[in-house]
Amino acid sequence: MYKIAVAGTGYVGLVAGVCFAEMGHHVTCVDIDMEKVKFMQSGVSPIYEESLEDLMRKNYAAGRIDYTTDFKAAYKDADAVFIGVGTPENEDGSANLSYIATVARQIAENVEKDCLIVVKSTVPVGTNDKVEQFINDFLVNDVRVEVASNPEFLAQGSAVHDTLFAKRIIIGTESAWAENLLKDIYKPFNLPIVAVNRRSAEMIKYASNDFLALKISYMNDIANLCELVGADVQDVAKGMSFDDRIGSKFLNAGIGYGGSCFPKDTKALNYLATQNGYELKTIKAAIDVNKDQKTLLYKKASNRLITFNRLKVAVLGLTFKPGTDDLREAPSLENIPLLLAQGADVFAFDPVGKENFAKLYPEGTSDKGTITYVENAEAALEGANVCFIFTEWGEVKAVQPEAFKKLMRTPLVYDGRNLHNVERMEEAGVEYYSVGRAPANKKGLKEWKKVAVQPSRF
Ligand code: NAD
Repeated sequence: MYKIAVAGTGYVGLVAGVCFAEMGHHVTCVDIDMEKVKFMQSGVSPIYEESLEDLMRKNYAAGRIDYTTDFKAAYKDADAVFIGVGTPENEDGSANLSYIATVARQIAENVEKDCLIVVKSTVPVGTNDKVEQFINDFLVNDVRVEVASNPEFLAQGSAVHDTLFAKRIIIGTESAWAENLLKDIYKPFNLPIVAVNRRSAEMIKYASNDFLALKISYMNDIANLCELVGADVQDVAKGMSFDDRIGSKFLNAGIGYGGSCFPKDTKALNYLATQNGYELKTIKAAIDVNKDQKTLLYKKASNRLITFNRLKVAVLGLTFKPGTDDLREAPSLENIPLLLAQGADVFAFDPVGKENFAKLYPEGTSDKGTITYVENAEAALEGANVCFIFTEWGEVKAVQPEAFKKLMRTPLVYDGRNLHNVERMEEAGVEYYSVGRAPANKKGLKEWKKVAVQPSRF
C-alpha cells in the first residue's frame, strides 16, 4: 500500500482521496481552506455526494485518511501526490492554471523522496510537460520527480460510485517507472486501465467531455426544430436510442448543459485549437447552441407575459443537476438574475442547493425583485403566476399536474427538463411549455400544421 497525498479536496480530490483510502492506501488530503479541513476532520463532508461522508468516517476511524492544510508535511514523504485543484475558465475561455502552478511549486519545494505527481485536474494538452519542467526547475532536494496524467471522469451526483466502479482508468505517462507505479496504485480497484502517453491522456479527457456536450447541444438543436415542425423530441430520442452507434444516454433535450466541466472544457478545447491555428467547428457550434438554450424558456415566458414585475415566480430546482449542491453554470444562475432585474418575486425551492444560492443571492435582496427560499415545491407554487423548472430533483418530478393547477394563481409552467407529459398537463388545465415538444393546445397544433402542409420541393 502507498502513502498518497491529494492536493485539493473538491469533488475530484476528496472523492479520489476517500476511495484510495477505501482501497487500503494511506491518504493525506490537503486543502488551503482551513474551514473545509476542520469540517472534514470532524467527519463532515464540505460537498454533497451520496455515501461520501460514510466512507470518510469509516476510513478516518481506521486511520487511513487524514485532512490538513500542512502541505509541507503531506508532500515531503509521499509516494505519489495527486493534484485535484480547480482549473476554472479565464475570461478568454482558456484554462486558468494558476492553482496547478501553486501546488506544483509547493510540491517542488517540499518533496524529500522520489515521487510521482499525478494530475487529475482537467488541463490542456501539453500542460503536464510544463508542470514537470516547472517542478524540476524549483526542486530543492535531489530526488526523482515525474508527472503523470490521470484525468477524472466522475459525474457529480454519483461521484463515489463512478470512482469505485469507473468504466476505465486513463493513465498517461512518459516512463515505465511512472506507468508501473500508477498501475500498482490502481490495482486494488480492479478496473480496466488504458495506458497512453501524457498528451493523449490529456486529450482523452477533453475529447470525451466535449463529445458529451456536443451530444446535448445536438439534441437541443434538434428539439428546437422539432417544436417548429410538430415532432416530439422525446419520441425522436427514443427512436434514435435503439441504434447502438448512437446509444441511449445524453439524448435528453432541455435547458442546456451546466456544471463545472462541460462549459469550461468546451471553451478550453476551442481555445487550444485556435492557439494552434485550427478551427474546431463542431465544438464552437456546441457552445453557441448551449448559450441560446439556457434562456430559451425565459424568452418564451417574456413573450407570453407583459412583464415579470411583481409577479410571483416559482422556481423549482437551483443546482445544475440533481444529486449535487453545485451551482456552477446552472441555468438558475442565468435566469434568476434576469427575473429579478425585471422585478419578479422569486420563490425558489431546491432540496440541497438553497444555501449555496443564498450566499450569492441572499433572501429578500436584489436590484429590483425579491427572492425567498422555501422548504418544498408546494410553497413555491402557492399563488404563483408562473413556474420555471430548472432541475429534475425527485421532489420536483413528484409534483403532479393537478398540483400546478390547484396551487398556482395562474397555472403557467415552463419546464426546462421535460418532466411532464404534454397531454396530461393540458388535461389538468395547465398551460405548459417544455423543450422540443409542441404544446398540446390547439394553437400549437395549428402552428406546426401550417409548416407540415407546405408542399415538398421534391
Ligand atoms: P473544486 O473547486 O470543487 O475543488 C478544488 C479544491 O482545491 C478547493 O477545495 C480548493 O480550496 C483547493 N485548492 C486550491 N488551491 C490549493 C492548493 N494550493 N493546495 C491544496 N488545495 C487547493 O474543483 P473540482 O470540481 O473538484 O475540480 C477539480 C478539477 O477536476 C478541475 O480541473 C475539473 O475540471 C476536474 N474535474 C471535475 C469534475 C467534477 O465533476 N467536478 C469531474 C472531472 C474532472
